[in-house]
Formats: sequence, C-alpha cells, structure tokens
Amino acid sequence: MTFDDNTPLKIPAELQNLLEERGIREDDIRQVLCVTENARQFHTHMATGHRLAYFAPSRVTYWVEYAPEEDGYRIIRAYSHRMRLLHGYNMASKKPPTDTGWLCSACELPLVTATVKLAYLDETFAVDLPACPACQRVLVSEEQAVSKMAMAERMLEDK
Ligand SMILES: [Zn+2]
Repeated sequence: MTFDDNTPLKIPAELQNLLEERGIREDDIRQVLCVTENARQFHTHMATGHRLAYFAPSRVTYWVEYAPEEDGYRIIRAYSHRMRLLHGYNMASKKPPTDTGWLCSACELPLVTATVKLAYLDETFAVDLPACPACQRVLVSEEQAVSKMAMAERMLEDK
C-alpha cells in the first residue's frame, strides 16, 4: 500500500486534544507517514506490530506511532522535539544490552542500545538510545521526548 494524501488516518478524539496542545497538526503526521511508509523507514514493535517513525522536515522532529489497518492507519501517539538527532555518529554503548522489543523494518534487525549524538543550539550531547545496528536510525520514546528532551531544550534556551 502506498501512502498518499488520500490515505485515511484515524486519530482518536482523546488524542486530538493532546496533539493540539503539542502543536502537532494532521498535516505533520501525514508528512511523516508519507516519507517513512513509502521508504519503509520505520521501527516495528515485535509484540504489537505498531510502527514508529520520525521525520524532521524543519527544525522540529516529529514522531508518530501508528497501526496499519486494512482501510488506513490508526494513530496511537505523536510527539515532537527540537533537539536534532545527528545521524551516523552512533557508538557502541557501554551499558549491557537490553531487549528493546523494536525491530528496524528497513534492515530487519532488532534495535540495540547505542550511544547516540544529539544537538541543540550550540551544544552536542551523547545519550544512550535504542538504534539500528546497521542503518543507525534511532528510537526516541514519547517519555524521552516530552520530559527529558523538553527539559534539556528549555535549560539550553535559558542559558
Ligand atoms: Zn536499520
């Protein structure tokens, strides 16, 4: 199935309010899926089959977790952050490996914890996040984006 402007999106009413608070529009979600579905650039949760994908059209990185259904896509959650993911600088993490439960669908490999580089304003950071061992695409959870990253962004803006 090819994702295009006419592919139905199902956004539950209770999620609509949260998305409004977060300033995420249906167009933003559609843009993420249009890029990632057609290029198979998403992670798949091995237990639920949910897909999680990100796309950064501008200074904002949008994440969408969704479930493909027969007649469209059901949106599970969507969130964003302004901290940039620097692609291609991942290093092996010193932490013991954990089972993330997610698979990179482009490479068909389970994600493993990696030390990943992030940047915001003039600062760069190294953070341990799940990532694909082959293509290095990372996974930022909702909790990580709306609490830890949002807090770090505010601290850096106030400096
Ligand atoms: Zn991969």
